[in-house]
Amino acid sequence: CGIVGYIGKRDVAPLLLEGLARLEYRGYDSAGIALHASGTGKSAGLKTAKAKGRVRDLEARLPKRFAGTTGIAHTRWATHGAPTDDNAHPHLDTEGKVAVVHNGIIDNAAELRARLTADGVTFASETDTEVLAHLIGRSQAETLEEKVREALRHIEGTYGIAVLHSDFTDRIVVARNGSPVVLGIGEHEMFVSSDVAALVSHTRQVVTLDDGEMATLKADDYRTYTTEGSRTTATPETVEYAA
Ligand code: GLU
Repeated sequence: CGIVGYIGKRDVAPLLLEGLARLEYRGYDSAGIALHASGTGKSAGLKTAKAKGRVRDLEARLPKRFAGTTGIAHTRWATHGAPTDDNAHPHLDTEGKVAVVHNGIIDNAAELRARLTADGVTFASETDTEVLAHLIGRSQAETLEEKVREALRHIEGTYGIAVLHSDFTDRIVVARNGSPVVLGIGEHEMFVSSDVAALVSHTRQVVTLDDGEMATLKADDYRTYTTEGSRTTATPETVEYAA
């Protein structure tokens, strides 16, 4: 239903919670966050928190140490699988290296799930979305962009997605097909959302992805390209917004 993401220098969890709160008007049944935890050794890595219910239920459940400067978040409107903690996004691959939030419906999820299960994958949720996390996690491609592209080749249906990978902590990769994705261009920070309402308190410079388009967001730059990999031009537009 709703996606928010941030990469920059600021403490990401409060920013994402604020973004999710701005999307509450759309309706949802659960919410969640994944971030690249700051720190070294055991304290580093991908961390998630999710909860059935309201954004404030998620807030109450955030671990004590939940600090980072890059993260993605989601409010879910269940289509595949009941509204539960486990079915809330983000969804992870088996190794816990990939986190995905997804709006939309994957039409061939049952088929993909059966194939992955036959290959030995154990699923942690009943969602259509989780197949994406496993497909990305199992991709042998070298870059995160290629891993996502490869995974999306298997997908039939609609998606707006945002992806984190613990081997590529300097970026968020996003893609759109039939479900909106808008980039918010800041100063040494970038935002992404499914809805411009979550961006306008931070920036008025936005880039709206087209269907079949992907983007890589880094703190200091972004680029857009097609799901086939060829670069696209993205000129930010200035949004006028009366809150
Ligand atoms: N189909 C996904 C699910 O049921 C995403 C639903 C949404 O857009 O929130 O988890």
